[in-house]
Amino acid sequence: MMINQNALSRSHKVVYSLCTQHSLKSYQVMKPRLVKCFLLWGLLGLSTAAISAGPTTVAQFDYRLWPEAINNPAGFDKASRAALLVYAPVLEKLSKASDAELLAKFHIKSLSRASINDWMTQQLAMLGRNYQLAATDCQASDWTCAVVGVKPENFVAQARLITAKIPVALTAWQQQLSGFAGDYASEQMRLAALFPKVNSEVSVINAQEFNGDELADRLFYLSFDDGPSAPKSTTDELITMLTAQQKSAVFFVLGENFSSRLKKNSKDELAKLYGQQCVAIHGYQHQSHAKWADWQQSIQRTQVLIASTLADKQTVALFRPPYGQRKVDSGAFFQRQGLRVALWNLDSQDWNQKISSDAIIGRMVALMLIKTSWYCVISRYSR
Ligand SMILES: [Zn+2]
Repeated sequence: MMINQNALSRSHKVVYSLCTQHSLKSYQVMKPRLVKCFLLWGLLGLSTAAISAGPTTVAQFDYRLWPEAINNPAGFDKASRAALLVYAPVLEKLSKASDAELLAKFHIKSLSRASINDWMTQQLAMLGRNYQLAATDCQASDWTCAVVGVKPENFVAQARLITAKIPVALTAWQQQLSGFAGDYASEQMRLAALFPKVNSEVSVINAQEFNGDELADRLFYLSFDDGPSAPKSTTDELITMLTAQQKSAVFFVLGENFSSRLKKNSKDELAKLYGQQCVAIHGYQHQSHAKWADWQQSIQRTQVLIASTLADKQTVALFRPPYGQRKVDSGAFFQRQGLRVALWNLDSQDWNQKISSDAIIGRMVALMLIKTSWYCVISRYSR
């Protein structure tokens, strides 16, 4: 399956570049070669901390079990409605788990029920909204349209009824998607359970931070973390590929990697390498900026390094904290620096050795179907 420029749902149409403010015409995020490239790059950037921070079970899904084409707007929206109908009851069931059950499931010692409840309320509301967005072209005879127009508070109950009598031909798809939904929701719920004691991408801390939930439908930001890699390796290959496809992404770079690259390339060569891409800050070193005494210097050093190397139009004033971890009272610092904290809400797990490139495609297809109107940072490869 490949998504091409004419084959996207109404919610998946435009790639938008933060630094150039230039919307692009096509988006082929599921192209296998692209995802493989992400995976290779991710492995290069992998650290012990990155491995230990990941979920024990990575949600995966074989998108080929869905029998209809999704490379057209109507087909994608139908698959999206079907996926949301399966996902919602799974999510609701998880919400009923006791604290003891969750502590054992997530292998953690304490949790914040308030944080879980906030997250769950937001997710369930979003599922209902996304379903309605995907239902604008609904046909009365389509089983996935049976929940159109129901009150938001009744969405999950109706979804449960519909999916209890799903067409037999979809049984294998439903079973696998239910498993995916449970694993994925657990990944996210674990982060919510730990928040705010351990902060992460699961929630913003103040109004200056963003994870994209507020962005308009059909809008996607692509981003890649932890580079640049050594000359003529994955960073170069990825930029070449994006450029050939007329796409821009945000590269959240590490200051030490950028500095290493400057020992092998001139400033002009690096500026030429990034071309029409956008570069932003991921910190000087890949460590939690919630615990690091020098976290402010880490950001400032990297900010200066990027600004003194690249043209203004190639940089964007964003900081993405490694692992999503930043201090809860860091808002004033970022405001003084003129930076915004850019989180994400869609993680390909392409840094994770437990998941193959093919499985990354399936995971991303499932998440795109479910999160149809969400901000989409397609690829990170470290946590
Ligand atoms: Zn990272």
